[in-house]
Formats: sequence, C-alpha cells, structure tokens
Amino acid sequence: KSPASRDVTLSVQLVPFGDKRKMLISRDITQIELVDAMRRDFVANVSHELRTPLTVVGGFLETFADMEHINPVDFRRYSDLMQQQTERMRMLVEDLLTLSRLESPQNRLQESATDVPALARLLFQDAQSLSGERHRIELFIDSDRWVKGNPDELRSAFGNLVSNAVRYTPKGGNISLRWAARAGEVCFSVSDTGEGIEPHHIPRLTERFYRVDRGRSRETGGTGLGLAIVKHVLTRHQARLLIESQVGKGSCFAACFPASRVIAPPAA
Ligand code: ADP
Repeated sequence: KSPASRDVTLSVQLVPFGDKRKMLISRDITQIELVDAMRRDFVANVSHELRTPLTVVGGFLETFADMEHINPVDFRRYSDLMQQQTERMRMLVEDLLTLSRLESPQNRLQESATDVPALARLLFQDAQSLSGERHRIELFIDSDRWVKGNPDELRSAFGNLVSNAVRYTPKGGNISLRWAARAGEVCFSVSDTGEGIEPHHIPRLTERFYRVDRGRSRETGGTGLGLAIVKHVLTRHQARLLIESQVGKGSCFAACFPASRVIAPPAA
C-alpha cells in the first residue's frame, strides 16, 4: 500500500465520532484516494510515453549490433529515426520538469512588466517558422497594454497555444494571433481553421496527457502536456483559458488576464 492509503486507514479507526464527523472524514478519504489514483495514472502515463521511443531506439541498436556491414544510406535513415525518438523523450522530460517547477509551492511567481505586444510579435515569427508557409498566419495587436507577470512563463504558455494551432491545422488553413481587450479583460488568443474539437473533450483538454486523438498528437510531436502547462501558468497569473471550438471549422484558445494584471506600457 502507498503511504497515502495507509494514512487513510489510520484516520478512520482513530475517529469514532457522530455521523457528521464521519461524513467529513469519508470526504477526506475520497480526496486522498483520488489524489493517489491521479498519481498512479500519471506515473503509468509517463512510463507509457517513454516506453515507445525507448523500444524503438533499443530495437535499432540491437539491429546495428547484429549487422556486419551497414550501408551509409540505411545508417543515416536509422540514425535519423533514433534522433527523432530521442528528441521526443527530451521534450517529454522538459515538459515534465516545467510542470513540476510550476507546481512546486516554493516556486513563487517572479513578476515583472511584460511587454505582451512585443511577445506576440516574437510568437508570430515563431509561428511562421513552425508552419514553414503551410498556413496563412496573421497578427493583430489591438491593445497596447502590458501584463504584470513572468515573461518566460507567458512565452511558454502562449507558445504552446501557437504550436498547437500550427500542428492541428491542415496545410492551407488560417491561423491568427491577437492581443485585444475583451469585456474587462485583455486576451492573447490564437484562432485556427483546423480540425476543431468535439464539445465533450473541451473540459478535459488541460488534464495531463489528455488527447483527443493519441496517434495524431504523437505524429505531430506533442507530449500531451502543453495545455496542462498553459493552465498552470495562467492560474499563477489569475488568468483564465477560454476554449471555443467547432468540429470541421476550427478552434480559438484565449488566455484572458483580469484588469488587476494589466498595466499601461511604460512612458517612452
Ligand atoms: P499535445 O501535445 O497532445 O498537443 P496539448 O496538451 O497541447 O497536448 O493538447 C491536448 C489535446 O488538445 C491535443 O492532443 C489535441 O487533441 C487538442 N488540441 C489542442 N490544441 C488544439 C487545436 N488548436 N486544434 C485542435 N485540437 C487541439
């Protein structure tokens, strides 16, 4: 038994009080069991994600060991495939470390005045290079406001939204990046004319490793952790993530900051 479930048994035996108290305890147990189940799920997911690339790399290395000669063309092909798999593991480990840093209670938000219009311009360039002319990409800066926040975390969160739009939008589609005021908030939004998402998936997208289509996500180089990272970063900034989507039409992911986080740009 894990330490968490041992604690649960102990606390039940130690508290022989009335019904009300018992109800409270059983609610605690459910909570602890839930956390325990989530932890187990998470470990199983990480192991599963690492097993596939490790099997591929291990398999190729075994093949090499059995070969007397290998021609340079085959060698190149195999080593490229091994590199792709190694890169996949590296990205997964990076994302896991990012998540664990974000979740650490010691890690308080280091804030500074963040020039979001400049960040949006940088991300626009990133989007163009990721897309490699497969999409029509537009940028709209409709607000000059900055945000009180962590520039690296915001770049990583917005960058995830941008790379998702590029990865889930077929060639020829449109993608737009926008920084604009919207009903008392200021939002960085990424809209695409991609495949869209069925409504029942939407509330679960920010769970770690939740994917609408596992195969498709891996094929496009996803770790399954991008939106979990986005959600954490935004929560630390008291911001929220809005997701609107229509299957076959496209999606819009918006990171919306409350007025308390929004600041005027410094005077030039
Ligand atoms: P992944 O690495 O799988 O892309 P994310 O956490 O970034 O992980 O996204 C979770 C899932 O949300 C994706 O697997 C995909 O199914 C869906 N998704 C995210 N962004 C988009 C988008 N712009 N269009 C369609 N589906 C998306």
